[in-house]
Amino acid sequence: MGIRVAPRMRGVAESGTVRMGNLERELRARGVQVISFALGEPDFDTPAHIKEAAAEALRSGFTHYTASRGIPELRAAIAEKSARENGIPCTPDEVLVTPAKLGIYEAMMAFVGEGDEVIVPDPGWVSYGPMVGLAGGRPVNVRLREEDDFRMTPELVAMAVSPRTRMIIVNSPSNPTGTVMTGADFRGIADIARDRDLLVLSDEIYEKLVYDGRHISIASLDGMQERTITSSGFSKSYAMTGWRVGWLVAPKALMGPIDTIQQHSLTCCTSFAQKGALAALKGPQDCVTRMFEEFRRRRDYIVGRLNSSGLFECRRPSGAFYAFPRYHLKRPSLELAERLLSEAHVGLTPGSAFGAGGEGYLRISYANSMENLGKGMDAIEQAMGRF
Ligand code: GLU
Repeated sequence: MGIRVAPRMRGVAESGTVRMGNLERELRARGVQVISFALGEPDFDTPAHIKEAAAEALRSGFTHYTASRGIPELRAAIAEKSARENGIPCTPDEVLVTPAKLGIYEAMMAFVGEGDEVIVPDPGWVSYGPMVGLAGGRPVNVRLREEDDFRMTPELVAMAVSPRTRMIIVNSPSNPTGTVMTGADFRGIADIARDRDLLVLSDEIYEKLVYDGRHISIASLDGMQERTITSSGFSKSYAMTGWRVGWLVAPKALMGPIDTIQQHSLTCCTSFAQKGALAALKGPQDCVTRMFEEFRRRRDYIVGRLNSSGLFECRRPSGAFYAFPRYHLKRPSLELAERLLSEAHVGLTPGSAFGAGGEGYLRISYANSMENLGKGMDAIEQAMGRF
């Protein structure tokens, strides 16, 4: 029997980030020492009090399904956090606990239909476009410019809007560029969304990693909460990538269809992981501050190393934990990334994984120890000198 994938899979490639992470793991399993700058995940261990809360949940038998939207106390804590930190006053009914990545997918499945256009940043996170496509829609890339610091400006968005536009995706701080958008950017995009009656999906997973400027949630702007789905989670700020817990905040009318997709797919987020997540929000926050300070130190180091290498040019990113340097070699970024992995044993993500606008760049996740950053940069410089 010939294997025939569903038509919706046509043109959907593997995730550039996850694929590089898998390749690194395979090399490591063969005994090769790999330095990992590919996947965006903190090298820190999950803070002890969070692990203990999940372990206690397991010991006490909290191992069954929960409500599809999540345990009430976690939803209440997320609602309270959204009001206090993000300026999004909401009730627990407007919160869905779900892995952040799945939540974005669920939102697409619920609101993007055949032929609908969704405006996505380019370079932008690897999965926005494929998720739009899988939902039946068409991603419309907004080509961001390095001279604008890769900000998704209202002018660029306005040029991409058409009568078929259904949704705009904003992501600040951005993966892969680390760009933090300004209040004026958000106000301009909000004007477009209100005028054209569009939905906004705001991916704020790096919200706690802003080194310069401040984090703004677009849902906090006038008239925006009713049309905005805000996505965030625990992975990046609490070093909980493997837990797969995050959330969506959206008004009740939008949340209903998203919850229906959750009921037909995940059912609910892992029960004991939710208890750990609750401890993350309710417990001491100094762990977040410590990791943040360390990420800032690493950012300054890696940007300095890249710019003094003579091989790259790198802006100083204002947020997240990615450097997005432009390289001088005239080679496709995929080829460079694959050679750096196989020959220098340093994993990083080719810029082209983030859209055509990322070609000529590499993404370096600097959520790794100073020692590894130093060794990795040494190896990159040696190898690229040879290429
Ligand atoms: N978001 C992380 C990254 O960009 C994890 C992998 C993924 O979801 O793409 O590396």
